[in-house]
Amino acid sequence: MSANESIQLIHGRRMQCKDIPDELYLGAVRDTAAKNIWGNTTNRQMVKEVVEAVVGHVPDNLFDAKSRRLIQRGMLDGCACGCRGDFSIPTDDRVAPDRESPAVV
Ligand SMILES: [Zn+2]
Repeated sequence: MSANESIQLIHGRRMQCKDIPDELYLGAVRDTAAKNIWGNTTNRQMVKEVVEAVVGHVPDNLFDAKSRRLIQRGMLDGCACGCRGDFSIPTDDRVAPDRESPAVV
């Protein structure tokens, strides 16, 4: 893998969400969140840096689209509007008494 200089272009086409592996993204969230002494969340910029170290430059809108998809699939918690994000990995045991969970939709 030596395609670090190809910006947004993967095999001649534009980078898409699927070009960012879920495991890479979620692993980046897990790792950077683990280093957060303030809580179990991480922020958009830190995750993006880790992801980009592997796949190369990721356009902001694509990165946010990827975040949004993972959130929709329940694999990620946080906000994908382009703000700080406050991403975290959802736990199976959602026992967070001080968190108002919108479980009933
Ligand atoms: Zn936001």
